[in-house]
Amino acid sequence: MTEKLRVSIDRKGCISCGTCWNGCPEFFEQNQKDACSQVIDKYRIASNPGEGEAPVEIEKMVRRAADLCPVQIIQIR
Ligand code: SF4
Repeated sequence: MTEKLRVSIDRKGCISCGTCWNGCPEFFEQNQKDACSQVIDKYRIASNPGEGEAPVEIEKMVRRAADLCPVQIIQIR
């Protein structure tokens, strides 16, 4: 079984700085309605834009984006 990273974005705290989607567009993107960060569709859990599962191939980039988020609202489990 392939390990996956469970990622959550506390979207209401997002300041739309763009760090996550610029640094890791493979997993994050900007929501066109509220301008906040969200998980791209194919990695979402239960269609929730704030919850996703990242494959190991992009783990480093996702972790780096979480580390760099200025308001630290990206959680990884
Ligand atoms: S890095 Fe953090 S604050 Fe910036 S867009 Fe991403 S989730 Fe929002």
